[in-house]
Amino acid sequence: MNRLHIDWTACDGRGVCTELLEEVLTEDDWGFPVIRDGQGAIPPALEGAARQAVDRCPMLALRLVQK
Ligand code: SF4
Repeated sequence: MNRLHIDWTACDGRGVCTELLEEVLTEDDWGFPVIRDGQGAIPPALEGAARQAVDRCPMLALRLVQK
């Protein structure tokens, strides 16, 4: 299973990822993504949405890593 990794040095809190991956991410008060379970595990059913989020992140701050 893949896990979502956020590069906090690149993320600027635009929030595209939280819209695409509501099941995995929520937003803090400043718009930065928060991983709901603290782990970022991506179930197979959300793999496509996770890849979209990675591709659409304007800061290239997201990637999927093997768990
Ligand atoms: S889309 Fe990218 S830059 Fe925007 S909040 Fe998500 S990780 Fe950060």
